[in-house]
Amino acid sequence: MLTSNALNPVWETEDYLMLRKSVKDFCRDEVLNAKREGKPLVQWMDENEETPEELWQKLAGLGVFGVSLPEQYGGFEMGKIGACIVSDELGYVDPAFALAVGAHMSLASEAIALFGNDEQKERYLSDLVSAKKIGALASTEQGVGSDVASMSTMAEKVDGGWVVNGNKQFITNAEIADVMVIIAQTQKGGGNKTMAMFILDLPSDGIKGMVREEKMGLHASLTNSFAIEDVFIPDNNLMGEVGGGFKMLMNVFNRSRITLAGCCVGMMRRAIDEAWNYTWDRRVFGKRILEFPTTHEKLAEMEVLKTLVESMTFDAAWRVDRGLDVKKFGAIAKYAGSEMAFKCIDSALQLHGGQGYMKSYAVEKLFRDVRAWRIFEGTSLIQLFTVFRSDLKTRLGM
Ligand SMILES: Cc1cc2nc3c(=O)[nH]c(=O)nc-3n(C[C@H](O)[C@H](O)[C@H](O)COP(=O)(O)OP(=O)(O)OC[C@H]3O[C@@H](n4cnc5c(N)ncnc54)[C@H](O)[C@@H]3O)c2cc1C
Repeated sequence: MLTSNALNPVWETEDYLMLRKSVKDFCRDEVLNAKREGKPLVQWMDENEETPEELWQKLAGLGVFGVSLPEQYGGFEMGKIGACIVSDELGYVDPAFALAVGAHMSLASEAIALFGNDEQKERYLSDLVSAKKIGALASTEQGVGSDVASMSTMAEKVDGGWVVNGNKQFITNAEIADVMVIIAQTQKGGGNKTMAMFILDLPSDGIKGMVREEKMGLHASLTNSFAIEDVFIPDNNLMGEVGGGFKMLMNVFNRSRITLAGCCVGMMRRAIDEAWNYTWDRRVFGKRILEFPTTHEKLAEMEVLKTLVESMTFDAAWRVDRGLDVKKFGAIAKYAGSEMAFKCIDSALQLHGGQGYMKSYAVEKLFRDVRAWRIFEGTSLIQLFTVFRSDLKTRLGM
């Protein structure tokens, strides 16, 4: 019993349906049904905290890392809607891989596509699309996550470039990245007006003490913390203007949050499928669990939540592709997506009873994985602040 995506004229045109089919087929054959060392690949990746290099390469072979990028760099020019279709399908089979791909595609590549100059785009984008290079984006530090403007990593101007010192924490893909978009402060206490965004080529001698964080879930997505000691970044790797770093980062986040919401749609679809399958198979008190009215209510509620998130996500993606401001709608999609996905997956786990808590059922991993969605790229509270500030401006001009 599998869900079908609602037919919608915005994101279910022939091109998008073809994209979805090719990613869906890939996800089924190369991820969901694939095996490694006699185990299902997803379980192997979760246990070994690793995404095999060849999986990156195979997905790159489909061209999807360039789904939103211009053709001249090997992209499909299918916009944010295309990116959401990819993240939806990846989220269905493995949220951890979906997150790693998201950091590569919707953080690093998108930052360079949006704010890199022509020479920088030429130098990096084709290699990111082909996965010859893997990307990461580093903003969070030991002392600073939500309050980005208080960042303490410093970039000091020197002849021919910048010397960066500080640290970064919880950075997805850092240990496997060849290209890291990095945000630093250029003046102590300068706040959000003096930050800068750079492209750092890796490996770099000044990246020290790389630690792989041990996490509750999302094991196959590597999360790293490290120190930055006297790292030289040449002038031609500065993106945009000095002082524009904060604004550029927020612009990237406003858009990448929508891709993250796309993953939530996939996770919810998976939870719903698992719940239908289990409640059909399992009998209690002489009946299938699916026969009880309380189960109907729960499954229907999950479907409602999923449909809401799907609509909000693709509506926000459509706005990006029309060039509209998505600060508010990106925050809404990320907030609603992560909160509702958490609720939906919790319901699926509950419908499994004790089995849902066991590793032999997919909902156990989904539950561990989804939790982080309410935290990264702005906690749920930060999304609500964004929505409120946007309304304050519209209503009271403040
Ligand atoms: C799996 C994972 C992957 C990640 N990947 C990346 C990555 O690739 N790149 C990157 O740069 N970062 C990454 N992060 C970091 C992530 O973006 C931050 O953890 C997140 O932004 C929250 O920051 P923080 O952890 O410092 O929490 P804090 O900012 O310390 O927040 C702690 C709590 O305080 C609340 N809070 C914050 N401000 C206020 C306020 N004004 N009023 C009331 N309460 C408030 C928050 O909502 C939260 O509940 C990742 C994190 C995780 C878990």
